[in-house]
Amino acid sequence: MKSISRRSLTLYLLIFLFLAGSFLSYYRLAVNADKWAMNKANSHLYTDGAFTAGDITDRNGTVLAATENGERKYNNDITVRKATLQTVGDGAGYIASGIQTAFKDELTGYTLRDGIFNLKRYGKGNNIELTLDADICKAAYRAMGNYDGVVGVMNYKTGEIICIVSTPSYDPLNKPSEEKEGMYLNKFFKGLYTPGSTFKILTLASAIENIPDLEDMTFECKGKGGKGQVQIGEGYVYCSGVHGKIDIEKAFNQSCNCAFAELADTLGKEKLTATAEKAGFNTQMNKINGKIACSKSTLKLDNSSALDIGWAGIGQYTTLVSPCHMLTLISSIANGGTATSPYVVNSIITPGGKNLYVAETQTLGEYFSSATAEKLQEYMRSNVKKKYGDYRFSGLQMCGKTGTAEISDSEDAKPNALFAGFSSNPDYPFAIIVVVENSSYSISTAVPVATKVMTAVKNAYGK
Ligand SMILES: [Zn+2]
Repeated sequence: MKSISRRSLTLYLLIFLFLAGSFLSYYRLAVNADKWAMNKANSHLYTDGAFTAGDITDRNGTVLAATENGERKYNNDITVRKATLQTVGDGAGYIASGIQTAFKDELTGYTLRDGIFNLKRYGKGNNIELTLDADICKAAYRAMGNYDGVVGVMNYKTGEIICIVSTPSYDPLNKPSEEKEGMYLNKFFKGLYTPGSTFKILTLASAIENIPDLEDMTFECKGKGGKGQVQIGEGYVYCSGVHGKIDIEKAFNQSCNCAFAELADTLGKEKLTATAEKAGFNTQMNKINGKIACSKSTLKLDNSSALDIGWAGIGQYTTLVSPCHMLTLISSIANGGTATSPYVVNSIITPGGKNLYVAETQTLGEYFSSATAEKLQEYMRSNVKKKYGDYRFSGLQMCGKTGTAEISDSEDAKPNALFAGFSSNPDYPFAIIVVVENSSYSISTAVPVATKVMTAVKNAYGK
């Protein structure tokens, strides 16, 4: 009896040691793998042949990044590589919001739940399919020429982002020895810009909702030396031209600062702030695919004077917008007032072909009432027809608003040029944001970029 129980005791002890041992080694692997995956400086992550990271493809299956023979490869086309760099990311983690950094665990297979199993079984991490269209990104990169800035295009019905370009960029296969300011930044997600006259969309929305006789109002833009001016509170807001007596439609077409500063003054800080906050200002947007944070657009009028509010109404003052949020906002107007959550990862697939994750269209709520959205659509459509020119966006029934944002008081400082718009042709449910930094008037720089990109979209998605 005694010897049996001693034997079983030994057996129990052995089983216990075995279990403890496997637990410990599993635990060690998990902890170290996590550390290893989290180590941004570890550039071997994507190049170590023993643990091959998965592929990143665009929406059409075009490979943007893949590991071959222990080396991380990117697309064969240098323009595609540069155009998609900040979204795909680099192997070393310099581009913090890049997919290769934000989705490192998924790509390398080091997730505690499924990853190690998959990695052991296939020797390869998971593949990620993006919503991006490499051809549209390439067209946008080319359209930007030598300018720094951002282009973003999204499907306003589904939230799929088909184009993100952030410049300056570089070739990940031939990284320049000299760093350019902003080359590691995905300005679409992380940039913050003075909106300039694109903010007049918000001032107009607030006026539509709060001023019943808006369409019967007359504004006066008069002044000397080709510059209109209007007194607001203790000072003046100046216009880019002298527009004379105009109604709201013409004021929006001509982007008259006098009219919009006066509207902002009439509305006051509470109403203007309420409209902007309903449309996502001063709120952190949900992270893109739960991983990538967008900068927060802000409108702060708490301690503002009447004159400050006048300037805010035309998109100057301290107001800042994130391109990602601005594109979401423009999309909500196109979508009848409801904002759709933008996303860039379509699916995560195991090497065995199993879907670990599939993105779904989600709404962020109502940015504008449907009546306001409909009115904004009409006014933005009128801008393209009467001011920018329908010939620039043939067949797209484009709606939009330009902006020229002064970012410095210095005389020779160049402004940023913006364009925010969308196609109201249901065959092309796409919205676009363009920011051209240190440029000139938006009609000569941002609008031509939008024309080139939307024409590429039309050609690719034509029916
Ligand atoms: Zn004016």
